[in-house]
Amino acid sequence: MGFNVEEYAQALDKFIIYMEKIPDIINPDTQVAMDSLCRVLRIARVEADFYENLGYEEDKWAGRAVFYHNGECDPKRSIVCEEWTEEGNLMRYAISPGQEEPDWDETEREKIQVFLKALLTFNGRTRMQQVVQRLNFRDQELGMYNMAWFMKSANQIISQREIGQYAGCQFNMRHFSVINQQIGRERGSRVLGKFIRQFQELLSDKELVCRISGDNFISLFRKNKLNLVMNYLRGSGIVYDEKEGKRVWVTTNAGYYMIPSNCDSAATIVECLGVAINMARNVRKTDYAFFDAELMQGIRIGKMIEANMPEALEKEEFHVYYQPKIQLKDYHLVGAEALCRWFRNGKVVAPGEFIPILEKSKLICKLDFYMLEHVCRDIRRWLDEGKEVVKVSVNLSRVHMGDMDLLDNILAVVDKYQVPHEYIEIELTETGTDVGVEHLRTLVSGLRSQGISTSVDDFGTGYSSMNLIREIPWNVLKIDKSFLPDKSDDDRQKRVMFRHLVALAQDMDIECIVEGVENVDQIKLLKESSCYLAQGFYFDRPLAVTEFEKKLAEIRS
Ligand code: C2E
Ligand code: MG
Ligand code: MG
Repeated sequence: MGFNVEEYAQALDKFIIYMEKIPDIINPDTQVAMDSLCRVLRIARVEADFYENLGYEEDKWAGRAVFYHNGECDPKRSIVCEEWTEEGNLMRYAISPGQEEPDWDETEREKIQVFLKALLTFNGRTRMQQVVQRLNFRDQELGMYNMAWFMKSANQIISQREIGQYAGCQFNMRHFSVINQQIGRERGSRVLGKFIRQFQELLSDKELVCRISGDNFISLFRKNKLNLVMNYLRGSGIVYDEKEGKRVWVTTNAGYYMIPSNCDSAATIVECLGVAINMARNVRKTDYAFFDAELMQGIRIGKMIEANMPEALEKEEFHVYYQPKIQLKDYHLVGAEALCRWFRNGKVVAPGEFIPILEKSKLICKLDFYMLEHVCRDIRRWLDEGKEVVKVSVNLSRVHMGDMDLLDNILAVVDKYQVPHEYIEIELTETGTDVGVEHLRTLVSGLRSQGISTSVDDFGTGYSSMNLIREIPWNVLKIDKSFLPDKSDDDRQKRVMFRHLVALAQDMDIECIVEGVENVDQIKLLKESSCYLAQGFYFDRPLAVTEFEKKLAEIRS
């Protein structure tokens, strides 16, 4: 039979030129591109089957793509060709003649082979693009979309002016390391993958979830799915052993952002979500938080504070205020705590506003040493002026833990001003976890051996463990004001706890002071409990240095 060579040449040209314009072989235009060539070669069907080869299972049929079909075909007489893709998948191409068509002759078979090669080459090119996409936009471990994909997709939604219909969410598995420990890393990864796949099932095509890193994810979904998403992320059981029906309960910390329609960049979404999840995880210690105007204001202030801090240190805008510590037996001033006040543009900023921000960026370490230096300078001056001097305690943030030179650095400052060590006390808050306890012990012992005392600040507000008190040689326990019953509060339990706390400290030879003492009833309770040291507004607020110096002068009189 044969075919018309000229027609074939034209059809082949047409096929190649047309295909060049098609971005992807799985495209309705492929049918049009192949039409002339298939007619010349009496082809009724061109298709490919995909098999997933996962390495540990048999090849799984994953799907079929039909590139061309024109009437009934005869699959028994197909010309077949197989190819492995770079991801280890198998593709089986089949070209079949029409049912009623006679067999192909040799020449036709040759041309069909050429057609197949062209098809493979073409598919190779589009697949290469997919591979590149995969490397760029997929995370290699879970095969999930990554952050680059999130940015690209979010920006696309923004440019289509549809972002106002979306909410964003960033989430992090809680206690994932514990799950890994309990069921092993491999199963842990499976749980992670499954948790995300089930999350994906809640989403439609235009919604997405991407992996930021480890067990951190970010998602964009329609606002009307908020409840669905929140319910799922609050906690879901994930089966990791089908046979035995074993499952773990996965919960998350999440930050949400109801994106306004005027949002103009993906970076803003990411930033707001970061703030919201941080608020949930680290500040409020809740399952989730929404980004709102209050948080926005917080960011602005935070940025302002961070940006102004170096200049403020240089210009000495931070002032040391001294809050007296009082001996209840004779109401004498026996010590003071140095507290920081920031004088900014004629206003006083309280530490509660800037310390948490400085703690995030380690700038707090600079401030603490600035405070220590200024306290030592004041004490040196008082000594030189022949004034009565009392021990001053300086707050050191937990952020310092892990700084191996901390002890040496403290001593260097104290000795630079030749301040006798008995005049300095270092206040440290309890650590939230066991992490750093070893370092804390080394530091506290080191200071003690140098004659510098240390105190546990805000005792009872954190995760105080009795071991922390027993294992570390503290000099002073500062009992937090939350242990004091206030006037409206006739809390017997609080009184009992308070008494026991004081007795415990005394049994362990640790000095006890109560902060936040505001009224006579509280002083009575202190005395009844044999605690004779107090600090609080009842006596004095934190005082500017000149005011405090007047108090020092009264000691002698
Ligand atoms: P803190 O170390 O527990 O300091 C005691 C806080 O309680 C001070 O607040 C003090 O003004 C307040 N206070 C004292 N007496 C009373 C009272 O009778 N009633 C009430 N309601 N409050 C009282 P302030 O000065 O606002 O400082 C807050 C926190 O900021 C401090 O708590 C400390 O953790 C931190 N801080 C202050 N200065 C520094 C510093 O130089 N370095 C570091 N790392 N933290 C500092
Ligand atoms: Mg303190
Ligand atoms: Mg305190």
